[in-house]
This record gives sequence, C-alpha cells and structure tokens, in this order.
Amino acid sequence: MSLAALLLSLQSTDQAYAVRRREFRDTSEKLEARGGLPELKEKAEKSRVRELEARVEHAKMEQELAQVKDRLSQLEERLYSGAITNVRELQAVETEHAAARRQYATLEQGLGPTLASAEEARRRHDDLGKQLADQEDAWKITEQQLSSDKNRLSKECDGISKKRSKEASGIPEDDLKFYESLMRRKSGMAVVKVERGVCQGCRVRLPLREVSKMRVSDGLISCSSCGRILLAE
Ligand SMILES: [Zn+2]
Repeated sequence: MSLAALLLSLQSTDQAYAVRRREFRDTSEKLEARGGLPELKEKAEKSRVRELEARVEHAKMEQELAQVKDRLSQLEERLYSGAITNVRELQAVETEHAAARRQYATLEQGLGPTLASAEEARRRHDDLGKQLADQEDAWKITEQQLSSDKNRLSKECDGISKKRSKEASGIPEDDLKFYESLMRRKSGMAVVKVERGVCQGCRVRLPLREVSKMRVSDGLISCSSCGRILLAE
C-alpha cells in the first residue's frame, strides 16, 4: 500500500474515532444533565414554598377577620345593650363600629383572592409533583439506556484507538505529523482521492504534471489548490 493509501485508511479510522468520541461526549453530557430533573426538582421545591406562603397569607387574613368580627360583636353589644347613657360615648362607639365594619368588609373582599391564590399555588405544586414523578420514572429507563450506550461507546473508542496506534506505527513520523497538522487545518479531511484528474477535496482539476508526478513519486503529493494529500486513481 502506498503511503497516501495508508494515510487514507488512518484518516477513516480517525474520522470513525471522532464520531464515536462525539457520541460518547454527548451521552456523558446527557447523563450529567439527568433529563432536566435537578431543575424540575428545584422548581417543585419553590412551588412547595410558594404554596405554604399562600396558605399562611390566607390563614392570617382569616384570623384577622375573626378578630374584627369579635370586635364588632363586642361593639354591637355595647351599642344595643342600653348600657351607654352618655351621648358622646355613644357617638364614639358608633364611629368605632362603623370603622370596624368597613375593615371587616375590606378583609372579607380580600379573602376570596387569597384563597384563590392559595389554591392556585397548591394546584401548581401538585402538577409539578406529578410531572416530577413521571419524569423520574422516565429517567430511570433513559439512564439505563444511556449508561449502556456510554459503556459501549467507551469500548468502541478504545478499540478504534488501538487500531489507530497500529496503523500509525507503520507511517514515518514526519509524514504522520504532516498528516495530523493537515487534519486540524482541513477540518478532519487531510487525504483525498483524485478522480478523473479532479481533487475530491476542493473539486479543482489538477495540472497534468501533478497527476503524472503522483504516479511516479513515492512521497506525498499535495493538491496545489487546497493543500490536501492526494491519493492517485
Ligand atoms: Zn484540492
């Protein structure tokens, strides 16, 4: 096999390795992300706190309302018991009673919305809880699949890596270095075939002297247009 042919074979090994390696990395990243479970857990926890806050808010409102109600009955008892004989005192109690009634009405109006928002918070928390449980179940299956994929890909990478070492050992060091630098610069394609006199890397027709040089030379010939190593037809 010519040196260019050896390098072409090495290149297909390197390309296969790059593909597996990328798959391995993607799989590892997916495993680490845990299907978005940590974020969902955090969201569910926040919704739990929000639900508690909403419930406390509503309970406070109810308590306040009960206190105002007590105060109202006390004032009403004083007003209607006939115990107050002083006009100024009666006026004062009446004023206080009116203020307490206004306060009661305001609180009563606010009670509906706080209850609604507590219920909304509870629904949201329940929904997130269910979503979390479903996602956790789904993740168990996905995790198993991903873990086995990761193992398989790791073994495949090792296998390709061994094959690569073996192939590379048959190539002179300088040529290997040249090939590797081309691989980096030419986005993973350093060796290309020539078909009907055309470089398959850049699609430029090669000058005839280059084609004939390729036929007789033992060394590597690069495309004068794209710089890639050429493999004769
Ligand atoms: Zn070219």
